[in-house]
Amino acid sequence: MTAAAPIASPNDLEAFWMPFTANRSFKRNPRMVARAEGMFYYTPDNKPVMDGTAGLWCCNAGHAREPIIQAIQAQARDLDYAPSFQYGHPKVFAAAARIAALAPGDLDHVFFAGSGSEAADSALKIALAYWNVTGKAAKTRLIGRERGYHGVGFGGISVGGMSNNRKFFGSLLSGVDHLAHTYDREKQAFSKGEPDYGAHFADDLERIVALHDASTIAAVIVEPMAGSTGALPPPKGYLQRLREICDKHGILLIFDEVITGFGRLGFAFAAERYGVIPDMITFAKGVTSGTVPMGGVIVRKHIYEAFMGGPDNVIELFHGYTYSGHPLAAAASLAALDIYREEGLFERARAMEGAFADAVMSLKGEPNVVDIRTLGLVGAIDLAPRAEGPGKRGYEVIERAFHEEGLMIRTAADTIAFSPPLIITESQVDELIGKLRRTIRAVA
Ligand code: PLP
Repeated sequence: MTAAAPIASPNDLEAFWMPFTANRSFKRNPRMVARAEGMFYYTPDNKPVMDGTAGLWCCNAGHAREPIIQAIQAQARDLDYAPSFQYGHPKVFAAAARIAALAPGDLDHVFFAGSGSEAADSALKIALAYWNVTGKAAKTRLIGRERGYHGVGFGGISVGGMSNNRKFFGSLLSGVDHLAHTYDREKQAFSKGEPDYGAHFADDLERIVALHDASTIAAVIVEPMAGSTGALPPPKGYLQRLREICDKHGILLIFDEVITGFGRLGFAFAAERYGVIPDMITFAKGVTSGTVPMGGVIVRKHIYEAFMGGPDNVIELFHGYTYSGHPLAAAASLAALDIYREEGLFERARAMEGAFADAVMSLKGEPNVVDIRTLGLVGAIDLAPRAEGPGKRGYEVIERAFHEEGLMIRTAADTIAFSPPLIITESQVDELIGKLRRTIRAVA
């Protein structure tokens, strides 16, 4: 750890309209971090803050990793930017090959975007275009799931199932339907890993097919573990059954692995953990360990090849971003993937899962804890809301954890979620749980 001088904090916080933030509360009592190293952030006056969330589920290799820093610096010097429309640069091809090699089955081709939201919208567009180029243009309906999160583009919020992310933005959200979510507290409370109860929730797709007919349905998109609404692990057998029903009716299955990709569940992708091959996987975040924005879609061979039939001078897919395959992102990704492999971080997460789950479950019985869920290196704790309404206790948790305990966590209403970098040690897990325990008691 380097001793560092304090970093000046800005005097004026007004200009920045912060995303997904209670701006006025934050600006009254800011939670500011100025640098980071390993498992810790540091405030401008150098107080350590344990990173309980890998940033925003993304810094899987921990912070300030020298090989990633060097790769980004060298890339900025060698090739700062190059377009991916009609031109290429070597590292983006190398990154695509490495990512495809990590994905199971014939998920062999990678389309790059700049974020998870762009990845989700790209996957939905590829699904629609796929049916178009294969002569089934009536298949246009997209199916998401209640409590799902697929970013904030219009495609993503359409299939997303979080009411606050949809209700203000109504006019373009059409042509979609939603599966029921898979959470039933009465039957699943305090399950470690995948709950035993709930595979039958996949059968809700049969209801949707009966209503709309498979001839109108392009794709189903789900997160293998719903992340943003408080970490809902899939019930045992659920994803397998969803795959079977999609196969039966000729519907594409998309796994949004923006959170679950790159080791969070102990495997490169959740698809591998569950032995289920979707038609597409979306990814972002951990692909560069959060260092440079990058997202993308991995598609199966049959999808890519369906587009490769026309005259070979014609663009096959009218879609892409200025920053698709940005050189800095490609370089950061190659360096992050090297660290994951060399340090065995996916296997490490898998090996720690049991001890992590035990430690998290030790919070059962603390005041207001009504459920705890764990999966891979993810933990979620539902607290009972305060009488004044939902979200109040959750906000107190964020504030107290940061200012009193030096801990960064996430909350969704009154659910605490945490997902530390995969480099966390067992004693740091205990430290994290100790900080959470004191915080939960303090907001009782
Ligand atoms: N999909 C999932 C499953 C996510 O969890 C997220 C972000 O948390 C996104 C998509 C959106 O990613 P981004 O914020 O990079 O657009």
